[in-house]
Amino acid sequence: MPSRPPSGLSPAALVLTAVLLVGALWGVLVFEVERSYRETSAAASTNVANLALAAEKHVSSIIRDVDHSLLLLRDEWLDDHADFLKKATILGSAYQSDILVQIGIIGPDGRFAASNLAGVTDSAEVNGREYFAFHRDHIQDTLRVSPPLRGRVTGLWSLRFTRRITNRDGSFGGVIVISIDPEHLSRFYQEADLGNHGFIALVGLDGIIRARGGMASDLRIGKQVGPGRPYLEPNAPLVGGYRAQSVTGSGTYLAAYRRLAEYPLVVVVALGESEVFAAHNERRTSLFVGGGGLTLLIMLGTALLMRATRANRRYQIALADDARRLAGQRQRLAIVNRSLRLLNDIAALGGSNAREKLKSALNLGAEHFGLELGVLSRVTGDDFTVEHCFAPPGHAVAPGAVFDLENTFCAATLNTRNVLALGDVAASPLADHPSRKAFGLGAYIGVPLSVQGQPYGTICFASPSAYAGEFDDQDFEFMRLLSRWAGQVLNEERVNQELHRLATTDSLTGVLTRRHFLELAGREFQRARRYGHHLSLLMIDVDHFKRINDTYGHQIGDEVLIALASVAQSALRDSDVFGRLGGEEFAVLLTDTDGKGARDLAERLREAVSKVQVPIRGTMLDFVGLTVSVGVTEVTDSDSLDVLLHRADLALYDSKKSGRNRVTWVAAPR
Ligand code: GH3
Ligand code: MG
Ligand code: MG
Repeated sequence: MPSRPPSGLSPAALVLTAVLLVGALWGVLVFEVERSYRETSAAASTNVANLALAAEKHVSSIIRDVDHSLLLLRDEWLDDHADFLKKATILGSAYQSDILVQIGIIGPDGRFAASNLAGVTDSAEVNGREYFAFHRDHIQDTLRVSPPLRGRVTGLWSLRFTRRITNRDGSFGGVIVISIDPEHLSRFYQEADLGNHGFIALVGLDGIIRARGGMASDLRIGKQVGPGRPYLEPNAPLVGGYRAQSVTGSGTYLAAYRRLAEYPLVVVVALGESEVFAAHNERRTSLFVGGGGLTLLIMLGTALLMRATRANRRYQIALADDARRLAGQRQRLAIVNRSLRLLNDIAALGGSNAREKLKSALNLGAEHFGLELGVLSRVTGDDFTVEHCFAPPGHAVAPGAVFDLENTFCAATLNTRNVLALGDVAASPLADHPSRKAFGLGAYIGVPLSVQGQPYGTICFASPSAYAGEFDDQDFEFMRLLSRWAGQVLNEERVNQELHRLATTDSLTGVLTRRHFLELAGREFQRARRYGHHLSLLMIDVDHFKRINDTYGHQIGDEVLIALASVAQSALRDSDVFGRLGGEEFAVLLTDTDGKGARDLAERLREAVSKVQVPIRGTMLDFVGLTVSVGVTEVTDSDSLDVLLHRADLALYDSKKSGRNRVTWVAAPR
């Protein structure tokens, strides 16, 4: 199974997403705060402008009223000085009592000529006042509103509205004055809600505050306005708005002004910004706190997600590793399974002999490991003999090759009594072993081999280069199985060989049994017929054997038979077929031997036997002597094996009949 790459958002993508989210959130918040600020600011500007308009109207109407009174009373004064005071008193009573401070006439000499206030005329000297000098020096008929003055006696503020009196002859006739309480002008303040930091002020174009209501008014009245107020600029528009820092240190304010059209006066209305923007600021704070909270939440969420992603990544990597490992193991298992199946197939092979089975298994093992050499060895003493092997052509290791055990890795394998696996011989403890160079060993895996519990040798696989992978438990198990199986195959071979020997060899004399003799004789008979070779048969029978048995015992009889077989065997060639037909009767088929040769051999044999002396145990000097009778005949074209045997039998019978210990020849009938 191919391992999938870990899926899901990468940490960088997560962080980017979070940053974008936070960025978008704060973008919206800042936009909203800006919008709220602009809205609040615009509303406040409109509000303050409206207030200024209302205040101007209020102030203008009062000034017009006062001016109207000034003009009226001045005419009265010019008409009739005596009537003036009466008129002034009547007019004065039209004002509210707390507003009007004084109505008076100042003579050209600068002293009060008339006043509604008793006692003023005698004492008051206004010669030096600014407005007096102005009117005296200027012929124009303009209203002047003097800066506020604090009464010398009362200590109260008063604002003087003055006009010049010009006599009918054009000469300076003095100044008419109406003083009012400046508070009257700023009373509007009480009707409009200007908050704790707002104020309304009436300012002369000379910058001196004439009247003021609201915040810090007592301190500011009669004082110069702060620097840079726009309405004092020479070309300032009649109506305007501005922001300024409060002179009294109560923060900034938002103001609107209006210049009075007919008088050198400006009405200013101001609202404290802290109050104007209070609601906005509160909203801003809650938006920012909320935004901060959301940002924290996003950061926390991102951190948690990142943690989860990291954990998930680790998990997926581990999963992929597991899958890879599992796939590797499955592959190895498949290989081992295949090898085991093949091993089983080899084991189950019918008919093929042990040699072929073992060679196939070595071939299989070499393939399984990807190593080029496979050896099954027999270890006897210090010799290491290659019995079976799978090797490239021309390799020094070949079946039958013998090496010094000590010069092979298999000595170490036998010592460990277990699988010895060296994936990289050069990096193993056996790096300096002489056989590493001698056999050019890069990789080696070997296992001891035993048959029927007896040490037999080893099975090993090797290669000039190091092993590509790593030998693991399955390889070890494979080697053990192979060794166990090979042990069984070798044991089977041994048992089969023994069974064959038992079936074909007479247990007493070691010569062929009757059955095997007849089988081989039949084969030789066929061959002689096919190739036209000579073939002769001897039939041998011990003379008076019953007597030997009876005299010396059955065991001595057996020894006599053994001695006879041994003597006969040494007189024969390897190609001759020698068998015991039963009891004390033997037969020999002589290949490539004609009748004469057969007769000669029979004679030699008879003679040799007659010289045999079988010692009798216990009586070292006593011997048993024996003789044999022999029948000889030669094969002819018309013979069958049975006929041949029968003829030899007849010849033997003749030997017996004619006195025993002799050879009788019977030729084939013509
Ligand atoms: P002849 O000279 O006529 O052949 O006389 P013979 O005694 O040899 O012949 P006979 O057939 O009468 O006796 C053969 C004896 O061989 C009978 C049997 O007890 C004995 N005999 C057969 N097989 C064995 C054997 O394996 N061991 C021993 N000790 N005796 C055997
Ligand atoms: Mg006999
Ligand atoms: Mg006999």
